[in-house]
Order: sequence, then C-alpha cells, then structure tokens
Amino acid sequence: MKLLLLGPPGAGKGTQAHRLMARYAIPQLATGDMLRKEVADGSDLGRTACEIMERGDLVGDDLIVDMIAGRIDQQDCRNGFILDGFPRSPAQAEALDTMLSTRSSALDRVIEIGVDDDILVGRITGRFTCRACGAGYHDVFRKPAESGVCDFCGSRGFDRRADDNEETVRSRLAVYHRQTAPLLPYYASRGILVTVDGMAAIDVVTEQILAALPAPSRIDSGDGRLLQ
Ligand code: AMP
Repeated sequence: MKLLLLGPPGAGKGTQAHRLMARYAIPQLATGDMLRKEVADGSDLGRTACEIMERGDLVGDDLIVDMIAGRIDQQDCRNGFILDGFPRSPAQAEALDTMLSTRSSALDRVIEIGVDDDILVGRITGRFTCRACGAGYHDVFRKPAESGVCDFCGSRGFDRRADDNEETVRSRLAVYHRQTAPLLPYYASRGILVTVDGMAAIDVVTEQILAALPAPSRIDSGDGRLLQ
C-alpha cells in the first residue's frame, strides 16, 4: 500500500498515519519529522532547513526529494509507506512519480483530509507532545488526565514545535493553499484522490480512510509470516 495523506497543517495527517501504520505494517514517512531530526542533530541539512521552517516556508525540493528517495528503498518500506508532508509542490509530485515509476510502482491512493482554515489555527497553536513517547496532546481538546504527566508513559517532559505559533501557522496555511493544494486536481485526474471530512471525530476520519483504501493483497510481517 503506497499512500499519500494530503491536507493543511493540523488536519490530522500524523494522527491518522499512526493508526494506519500498524494495520498495514507500513511506516509513516513524514518529511517534517525527518527535518526536525536533522535540526536537532545539527546536520548541514538541519542548519539549512531550520530558518526556513521557522518562517513556515518550504525547504528546497532537491533536498527533500533526496531525503525521500533514500528512504523508500529501506526494508521497512517493503509493504509500502504512508507519505505525510511530501510531496508539497508540483515539482515534488513529479519527482515522486519519477521515483516510483523507475521502481515500477505508483501511489495506490491519495487521501485529502479537509479542514477549514479557521479551525486549524486553534488546533495547531495548542498542541504539544510527550518528549519520551511522542504522544500528542492539546491545551483544550486533549489534556493529559493528570496535568503535566503523560497518560501513556508517565513522563513529565513535553515539547511544542517552534513553528506552531500563530504567525508561522498562518504562513504555513498560505503556503499550503498556494503550493500544495494544486496537487489535488493533479491526483483527482488520475482517479486516485479521495477526500475525507477532517472535521469529524478522529475515529470517524479513520473509518472514512479505511473505507477508501484498496484491500492490501499481501502483508509481509518481516519475520517470515504473512499477516494477510
Ligand atoms: P510538517 O511537520 O509537515 O508541518 O513540516 C514542517 C516544516 O518542514 C514545513 O513548514 C516546511 O518548512 C518543512 N517541510 C516539511 N516537509 C516538506 C516538504 N515536502 N517540502 C518542503 N518543506 C517541507
């Protein structure tokens, strides 16, 4: 299953990707997460990307395309992958097509998670994650049961993304509409785009996505078993 989740920042792509990963035994390839790791590691790429990300602009296509090309041939992508945050521009979409066609492959589905902009700003500016296990929380919609303590691992350290402030969020939304939304008609014309209502409850969104996905033909668990 080669799947692309498309949608504005805060639409819930990461949340849905996590739910689909286990079900299909495929990894989430989130370019934003990969870049944040480069920034944290202080690599050359991270130093280049850091300032661009803080402005909410897009990092150069070539850097991103190389990052993904090196990733999709890894063993954990043998059943496919979930792209989250890539491609984000027509040039990246074309590079992805080339990358897949040289491997005799193609995307199976593109899922657009649609959410109104005015809701997104509130969703994003309140979100934070557990530093130890990555569980996601929100100041209003999803507080930990005990304030300051992760529900899942009991850790007390949390992070907020540097680009989740209102000013950067507004510019990320503008970039989405200008550079990423044009991919919707591109995939619609190929008959692989399905739009789900990202304002519905998280479980309902998951159900809508699962209903839109083709049944996986064969899932290799990686330890010699076939899961389906
Ligand atoms: P995200 O975590 O997907 O919201 O991405 C955070 C930031 O990383 C974006 O605002 C961009 O600056 C950068 N970024 C992530 N993915 C891409 C991409 N495919 N192309 C260019 N920049 C990206």
